[in-house]
Amino acid sequence: MLVEAVGLQDGAWVQQVHGGRVLRAEEAGYLGEADAVWTTQSGLGVVGRSADCPLILIAGPSCWGFAHASWRSTVAGITATLIGDMVAAGLEPEQATAIICPSAGPCCYEVGPEVKTAAIADLGPGIADCFVQLGERPAFDLWRANAGVLEAAGLPAQRIFVSGHCTICGGEEYPSHRRQHGQAGRFAAISGGGDS
Ligand SMILES: [Zn+2]
Repeated sequence: MLVEAVGLQDGAWVQQVHGGRVLRAEEAGYLGEADAVWTTQSGLGVVGRSADCPLILIAGPSCWGFAHASWRSTVAGITATLIGDMVAAGLEPEQATAIICPSAGPCCYEVGPEVKTAAIADLGPGIADCFVQLGERPAFDLWRANAGVLEAAGLPAQRIFVSGHCTICGGEEYPSHRRQHGQAGRFAAISGGGDS
């Protein structure tokens, strides 16, 4: 299994539904519908899947998790909720490391104007800085939006790694829902740790 290939004992996963729900994994296996999962169980990896949405991996010495930060989940505050739950369980944000995986970048991720309206309504006027104009339509910079959440939560900027690779224009090695017109595969990312 995938998790064993990276030296973990077992994995936990969810059905990702573009919402704001965060779950704590106490054991391996399928947990239900959510867009972020975290755990403190040694040897347990949490597994996220994506084609164009950013997966945000967060890991501290004894707590690790991921968020599937689609635009809807980002507007729902998924990354802020995830890190808030992890901090409540003892994660020290200044000791944590985060990775924003390859996903649709601000170069390509066109959205309708209603997305910008929804983001400003739910996240405040500051989120407008995370939209760039691509011709007629705005693009939502989900990398910048989620990196901003991580910094606001206390992660040092030098411990936030943004891949910067765009799955739409970055080449064939990335599965892309948009470039492949819904026929894309998915890539998985695992956040794990412990004495395995
Ligand atoms: Zn691009």
